[in-house]
Amino acid sequence: MNETMIEGARAGRIDVNAGQLLHIVNVDGKQVCDFFAFNRSNIRETLSPSHQRSVTRRMYLKPGDTLYSVLRRPIFELIEDPTGYNDFSLPACDAERYRMDFSIEDHRSCRTNLEEVTRDLAIPYEYLPDPFNFFQPTPVQADGTYGTGTSPAKPGDQIILRALMDVIAVGSSCPQDQIPLNNFNPSRLKLVLSDA
Ligand SMILES: [Zn+2]
Repeated sequence: MNETMIEGARAGRIDVNAGQLLHIVNVDGKQVCDFFAFNRSNIRETLSPSHQRSVTRRMYLKPGDTLYSVLRRPIFELIEDPTGYNDFSLPACDAERYRMDFSIEDHRSCRTNLEEVTRDLAIPYEYLPDPFNFFQPTPVQADGTYGTGTSPAKPGDQIILRALMDVIAVGSSCPQDQIPLNNFNPSRLKLVLSDA
């Protein structure tokens, strides 16, 4: 399988071999992709935004940066990022957030999207890993608080990652439609593989 289309507010999953390029395509634009990855030979080793913050020590990744696992090993190299917005500070949206902050029961979320497409891996809900939120602006304001905004991604914009180990990759079209993040209309993403 060389590509997976992800409908708006859903998730998709693809196996990426070491050395391959993974393209995360913003099909319709203005859409955040919550991105997760697991070492295929040890799914407990996940892409880790908290370790990334420790290593990178800035708010956003730049092309050429290495993405790290929870064991501080390289999982990906960032090759291209047309928007330059790739939040790795905030967790995935979850049903609890929609219930507590927006009084909506059973709203789709990136966390339950991840759970749906990784059910065979049997990861307890509480232990699901945190995401890299590609195409997501999370500006730090002068008073130190996090701001919000709408994803600046244009139709066809793509993040390109080079896999440095064999991984299971998951992308979630963020279902957040209560704030402007996804232009109030979660839309399609696509995961595409190519050989470097
Ligand atoms: Zn989300």
